[in-house]
Amino acid sequence: MQVCSTVHELRTRLDEGRASGQHVGVVPTMGYLHSGHRSLMDRARNDNEIVVATIFVNPLQFGANEDFSVYPRDLARDSALAEDAGVDVLFVPGVEEMYPDGVVMTSVDVPELGSVLEGRFRPTHFRGVATVVAKLFNLVGTATAYFGEKDFQQLAIIRQLAKDLSFPVSIVGCPTVRDHDGLALSSRNQYLSAAQRAQASGLFRALSAGADQCAEGEPDPRAIEATMVAVMDEVDHDGIDYLAIVDSQTLGDLDVIADPSKVRLLSAVRFGATRLIDNMGVAQDARGVFCD
Ligand code: AMP
Repeated sequence: MQVCSTVHELRTRLDEGRASGQHVGVVPTMGYLHSGHRSLMDRARNDNEIVVATIFVNPLQFGANEDFSVYPRDLARDSALAEDAGVDVLFVPGVEEMYPDGVVMTSVDVPELGSVLEGRFRPTHFRGVATVVAKLFNLVGTATAYFGEKDFQQLAIIRQLAKDLSFPVSIVGCPTVRDHDGLALSSRNQYLSAAQRAQASGLFRALSAGADQCAEGEPDPRAIEATMVAVMDEVDHDGIDYLAIVDSQTLGDLDVIADPSKVRLLSAVRFGATRLIDNMGVAQDARGVFCD
């Protein structure tokens, strides 16, 4: 596995590969890799001749009071995981390589998709994500990019920007990988105390209860949201930012559920200072997969 930190090395390697007919698969991450990231790498490995994983904790997508400086980092462990997954190129740029002037004057924004749900609580977050992903797509060039459904709103925004800005990048969404009790794997789970970790699986049960009720034909989105809140409140938590059922394409609110296959249930719940997000669709195969 080649580890590189400069745009020049990355482009040279990928251009050479494409010139000899190789397809490029890219898995963007912020590192502190787990089995969720591994599932994206496995899919990319299966589909492409060259697999690039990127690790960049992007300051643009963190709010002023968020966890940028303490976000977990462990390059040695991440390199071993990526190598084991058969990654060919691990791109680990420093902040100065990505933002040489320190400030970025250009930004990419998808306000209709980015201002709802997470956007109400993290108003600058998706602009930071969309900007860095657009930049990364420009660095990588023609490729297939793999993203997790775990970040469902992010995935919708990235699909939209790739289409709107004509990036030569196909977007593939991959199922959420969950721990045995249903908690979606996340680099941020390590912030949880043992007691909070035990409570956190309530989030999966709340979403599952809402998805079940929807599958049984409940047409009223407010009734489903009330069910999710009631199940969530069976465990100790420190606040529900949202537990919502929305249109899976537009992420807009629904007055009535006409087709359960076209909705998504999304949530953000706080446990102490840790904020966890999760989501699911109604069909069993839209609820994620359990890790071994
Ligand atoms: P992050 O490092 O958190 O920015 O995540 C990098 C990529 O991994 C994103 O596309 C995430 O959606 C995806 N990802 C994170 N957690 C999971 C998970 N539990 N299952 C599947 N994909 C995930």
